[in-house]
Amino acid sequence: MTVSSTFTKPGQPISKVCQDQVAVWRTIAPQFPHPKKWSWFILCDDNAWKLYLQHSGQVLPVSTIYSSTDIDAGTTFLRGTTLLHPDLPEAAPDHVIAHELAHIMLHSRDEAVVEAQTRKWLERQKHAVGSLVPFNLPKPSGAN
Ligand SMILES: [Zn+2]
Repeated sequence: MTVSSTFTKPGQPISKVCQDQVAVWRTIAPQFPHPKKWSWFILCDDNAWKLYLQHSGQVLPVSTIYSSTDIDAGTTFLRGTTLLHPDLPEAAPDHVIAHELAHIMLHSRDEAVVEAQTRKWLERQKHAVGSLVPFNLPKPSGAN
């Protein structure tokens, strides 16, 4: 998988915000099943995201779309803002990334099927993280 931040002016370093968004993506994406080869684009600011949505002909209000996958083209576009400042629980970065990965891995455009898979993966991820918790718990009282 490769990830690019778009709308950075040529010759200019990518902004701190973009770098932070890419870092969030790099932490989360490998935790879920993912394809070997796929192009991810992070639209770092909402202006860039708006331009992308207009360009791609999407009509819903911008604020309700967090990501978009084109299965045939092998591309996924993410609204960068949601990686750092999700405005809804469903817009949390792990949810959004897992959702797009479910589209990709299932090769499906069926939102109900994709969302069901997403929830399974998120549940599994929660348990994987939870299994680390006992190391931090105090020893049961009364144990010798
Ligand atoms: Zn979807």
